[in-house]
Amino acid sequence: RVGLSAGRGIAFFKPESNSRVLREMALESALSHAIDNGELLLHYQPQVDLASGRVCGAEALLRWRSRELGTVSPGEFIPVAERCGLIGAIGDWVLREACRQIAAWRRAGLPPLRIGVNLSPMQLQPDLARHVQAVLVETGADPASLGFEVTEGTLMADVTLAAAVLRDVKSLGVEISLDDFGTGFSSLSSLSSLPIDIVKVDRSFVHDVTGSSKDVSVTRAVISMAHGLQMQVLAEGLETDGQLSLLVANGCDRAQGYWFSPPLAADDFERLVREQRSLPEKFLSRERRRR
Ligand code: C2E
Ligand code: MG
Ligand code: MG
Ligand code: MG
Repeated sequence: RVGLSAGRGIAFFKPESNSRVLREMALESALSHAIDNGELLLHYQPQVDLASGRVCGAEALLRWRSRELGTVSPGEFIPVAERCGLIGAIGDWVLREACRQIAAWRRAGLPPLRIGVNLSPMQLQPDLARHVQAVLVETGADPASLGFEVTEGTLMADVTLAAAVLRDVKSLGVEISLDDFGTGFSSLSSLSSLPIDIVKVDRSFVHDVTGSSKDVSVTRAVISMAHGLQMQVLAEGLETDGQLSLLVANGCDRAQGYWFSPPLAADDFERLVREQRSLPEKFLSRERRRR
C-alpha cells in the first residue's frame, strides 16, 4: 500500500536503501494524520529532587500509537517529523497537551510540579515566547510548572537567536534545561552566556559513572562547574544504586531514570505523586541530613 505513494522517489536510490526510504515515507504519511486521529499521547517520567527525595516534576515524552504502523518510538519518528516539516504542528500539540495536563493536575490538587517539554531546533523561532504565553493563557497553566529541554545542537545552530528566544521564554517563568549534556563538544563555560537553569547530564555519561577515581573526578568537575555557573544538575538515565550514591555524594541536585521510575501514563504519574513515594534515606544528600 505504502509502496504506491512512494513510487516517485524510489528509482534514485540504491536497492539496499529502498526499505529505509519506504519506511520513512510510510512514517511521514501516517504521521501527517497522527494528530487528527488522536494517535499521540504524552508519558511522564518522574524527576526526583535528591535533597528531599521527592518527585519535583517530570519530563513529558511523546508516544505515538499509529493505527497503521503500531507503536513507533520517538527516536525514530521525531527525526522524520523534523525532516518533513511536521515537527511544528507536533511540537505545538505537545506543548498544548502538557499545559492542559499541568492545569488539570493543579485543579485536582496535586502539589506544584515542573513538567519539561522537549524542543526541536525548528521550534526555536523569534515568536516562541509569545506563542508559549498564548498557550499558557488558553490552558490556564502556571508558567512556574513548565520547562523546556533544548540540546546543545539546537542552541549551536544559531547561538544569538537561541539566547534571545530563551531569555524571552525564561522571563515568562519557564525553566530552561540543557538536554543530553556530555554527548556534544561544547564545554559548560561556552554555554554560560545562555540562560540555562539546569544541566541534564546524558545517560551515556551517567552509565560510565562506576566509581573509578577518574569517573569521580569528572563527575565532581562537571557538577561544581555547573554550580559555579549558577546551574543545577540533573542526572538522566539513572539505573543503579552505585550511580545514585556517587552522584548524591558529589552534590547532584536531581535525577531521572529507571532506577526510580520509567516514563508513566498520566494517571500512573498522578498516583505516584499522590503516594509521594520518596527515596530511601541512605540516598538523601548531606545537606538534607544536616537540616
Ligand atoms: P531525551 O529527551 O534525552 O529523553 C530521555 C530518553 O531516555 C527517553 O526515551 C526515556 O524513556 C529514556 N530513559 C529514561 N530513563 C532511562 C534509563 O534509566 N535508562 C535508559 N536506557 N533510558 C532511559 P524516549 O522516550 O524513547 O525518547 C527519546 C528521545 O525522543 C528523547 O530523548 C527526545 O530527544 C525525543 N523526544 C521525546 N519526546 C519528544 C517531544 O515531545 N518533542 C521532541 N522534539 N523530542 C522528543
Ligand atoms: Mg529530554
Ligand atoms: Mg535527555
Ligand atoms: Mg538523552
